[in-house]
Amino acid sequence: MTTIMHPRLAATLVSLAVAGSLLVAPVAFATDMGADVDYDLVFPVDGEHHFSDTFWAGRSHGFHVGQDIMADKMTPVVAAADGVVRLVNWTAEPHMNPSRCCTLVIRHDDGWESWYIHLDNDTTGTDDGKGWGIKRAITPGVRVVAGQHIAWVGDSGNAEGTAPHLHYELRNPDGVVVNAYSSLVVAGGNDVGSGPRDPLVGGSRVLKSGVDGADVRVLQNLLDGLGYDLGRIDGFFGSKTDAAVRRFQSSVGMTVDGLVGRETKTALSGLSRGSADSEVLLIGSRGDPVRELQRGLNDLGFDAGRADGVFGPITLRAVLEFQRANSLWVDGLVGPRTRAALLVK
Ligand SMILES: [Zn+2]
Repeated sequence: MTTIMHPRLAATLVSLAVAGSLLVAPVAFATDMGADVDYDLVFPVDGEHHFSDTFWAGRSHGFHVGQDIMADKMTPVVAAADGVVRLVNWTAEPHMNPSRCCTLVIRHDDGWESWYIHLDNDTTGTDDGKGWGIKRAITPGVRVVAGQHIAWVGDSGNAEGTAPHLHYELRNPDGVVVNAYSSLVVAGGNDVGSGPRDPLVGGSRVLKSGVDGADVRVLQNLLDGLGYDLGRIDGFFGSKTDAAVRRFQSSVGMTVDGLVGRETKTALSGLSRGSADSEVLLIGSRGDPVRELQRGLNDLGFDAGRADGVFGPITLRAVLEFQRANSLWVDGLVGPRTRAALLVK
């Protein structure tokens, strides 16, 4: 059911970074907290819900690490993958500590884990904290299969007084919380996100010599896509990356300082978007991907005109209608989200 290194990992990175070709080292990549992964999972909330990318969202206690999936109390929660229940209410003991209701940790067969937090702890129809929103059979050591009903959405723990939701964490075998957002979208979640995600421009930190991380890898991929020689794409901002950044800054007439702040990020991102092998389709794009897009839209009843492989005004109108109908960001750009929505339909 699940794999540690999913072949689509690289594809997701490409589309998120809006970059060209990629050479990713998935093992190293997956160890970064908040790294985007493409992990095969079953969407963990089985009922009406909505979510947007809340990883790194500001919270009173710092930054949010995980994804909040909003849903009514008592909406069924299902196992995201095959595995074994490791902790119930933070314990592997049989008594399961009812005062700490209700959380579940399930270890998948590949060593990754799903953490389900804020599960229901109320008697139905109340907020009394006396309920038990985990199925009785779900106890430490019990085997579950992907899609199996294990619990119910609630507002327990530090979510009391907030809108009920499932706080979902996907952890890699090192215990590092990765960003499950893309995987949840691919799994068919009702994503109502507020705009196309860009892990480089979206990140606020300034990248410079000596830093490493997922955002550096995105940067390297963008530079690589523009033809700069970086040697290895390893997520470390070393001398070659520094040299490439400086050459890039010089070529576009920016201050040459080797610092990748918002200005340089935006310039890089804009250029990559316009490059021939860009994953984002927009008005003016041509070729087979456009033809596929047009066929997909036509099949779904959004009139994209003749599937001629030219993204013109009729195709644009169809894309806008499709985005509106699917609660996507209505921008006429066919990036990862719109693509995912087209695929799941
Ligand atoms: Zn949360």
